[in-house]
Amino acid sequence: MNYTDYFENTLRDLKDEGNYRVFADLERHRGAFPKATNRGDENREVTIWCSNDYLGMGQHPDVIAAMHDTLDQVGAGAGGTRNISGTTHQHVMLEAELADLHRKEAALLFTSGYVSNWAALGTLAAKIPDCLVLSDALNHASMIEGIRHSKAERKIWRHNDLAHLEELLAAQPLSRPKLIAFESVYSMDGDIAPIAEICDLADRYNAMTYLDEVHAVGLYGPRGGGIAEREGLMDRIDVIEGTLGKAYGVIGGYIAASSALCDFVRSFASGFIFTTALPPAVAAGANASVRHLKSSNAERRAHKDKVAEVRARLDDIGIPHITNPSHIIPVMVGDPVKCKYLSDVLMADHGIYIQPINYPTVPKGTERLRITPSPVHSAEDIDNLISALETLWAKCQLARLPLAAQ
Ligand SMILES: *Cc1c(COP(=O)(O)O)cnc(C)c1O
Repeated sequence: MNYTDYFENTLRDLKDEGNYRVFADLERHRGAFPKATNRGDENREVTIWCSNDYLGMGQHPDVIAAMHDTLDQVGAGAGGTRNISGTTHQHVMLEAELADLHRKEAALLFTSGYVSNWAALGTLAAKIPDCLVLSDALNHASMIEGIRHSKAERKIWRHNDLAHLEELLAAQPLSRPKLIAFESVYSMDGDIAPIAEICDLADRYNAMTYLDEVHAVGLYGPRGGGIAEREGLMDRIDVIEGTLGKAYGVIGGYIAASSALCDFVRSFASGFIFTTALPPAVAAGANASVRHLKSSNAERRAHKDKVAEVRARLDDIGIPHITNPSHIIPVMVGDPVKCKYLSDVLMADHGIYIQPINYPTVPKGTERLRITPSPVHSAEDIDNLISALETLWAKCQLARLPLAAQ
C-alpha cells in the first residue's frame, strides 16, 4: 500500500465534501478578549464569536494571578501521575472546591473533560457487573467513546425522549444495573435535558445517573454549579461531570460524586492512573476561576443579557437561529460548503471569526454557525456582527425567517 496516497486521497474526499477542517492561527490578547490576532492572515485583528471561554474567565485577573503565583512558587509541571508523586496540594484543593460546588462528598480531576468522560464512563460501565448503559442519542463523542471502550451493553435513547428512555428501562429486569448517561446543555443545539424527569425514571427503574454539565458549569445556578444546581437536582444525580476548560477558562475535567464512586474510579480508571497530573499552576488557576464564579453572579448576568441582545438583533434582521433556553446561538446553514464559505467571508471581509460547524460534529444537513456571545463582547462588536451577517445573507441569498425549527 502507498500510505501517503491513501492519506492524501482520503483528505481530498473530505475537502470535496466541504468537511475538511482548517484551523485559525490565533493569538489572543489578555485583557482584550474577544479580540485576537489572526497570525495566519497577515496578523489581522479579529473578533472571536465562537469561543467556549464563555465568560472571558481565561483572562480574569484572579485566574492569571493564581497561575503566576503558583508557577513561581512550585514550578511548571506536576512531575508525575497522581499516583506517583504528581498529586500536589493544588490538585487536592481544587478537588475539594469542586466537590463543594456540586455538594458532593468528593471530586476527581482529569486532564480534560474528554478524558473524564472517557475514563469515568469507561470504568463504571466496564466494572459494574452486567451494566446496561442508556445513552442519549446526542451525547458527546467523549461519552460515546467511554461507553464503547467499556464493552458494556448499550442502548441509545432518542434525544431527550423520556418515553423512549422509559421503554428501554422497563424492558430490563429491575435488578439489572443500569447507567443513564446524558448532558444538561447540549452544546450544538443549545437545548436542555429534562433532568428531573430523567431522575424520576432512574429512581423508578433502579438506574444510576451520569450527567455531563460541561456547557453549564460556571454559567448556570447561583454558584455556577450548572443546570442541576439551578433546578435543585444535584443530590439526585450520581455523577456530575464538568470541564475547567470552557466557562472556567483554563483546562481540565472532573467528576463529582460520592466518596466511594470517586475512589472507585481513582483506583481503576486507566485514563486517570497512567497519565501525568495537570500542572499545579493550571489547577490553581482553575480553582481561582471556580471560586470567583461561586460568589459572583455579575458574569452570569452579563452573559445572559448579551445572549438575549444578540438573539433579538438576529430576529430584527430575520436571520434564522434555533430557539433554545441556553446561551448557545446556532445559526442554521444546512450545507457544509456554504457554511465554510460564510465563515471564510466573515473572517476575510469583516474580521469576524465564527468557525463553521460541520460533520462529524453535527449531522450532515444541519451545518451551522454556532455563535457564543460573552460578557466581554462590546456593543460595537455586536453591531459589527449583525451588519456583517446582514450583508452576507443578502449577498448569498440565504433564507430569512420563517425557518423550519430544527
Ligand atoms: C467539550 C466537551 C467535553 C470535553 O471537555 P474538554 O474539557 O474540552 O475535554 C465533554 N462533553 C461535552 C458535551 C463537550 O462539549
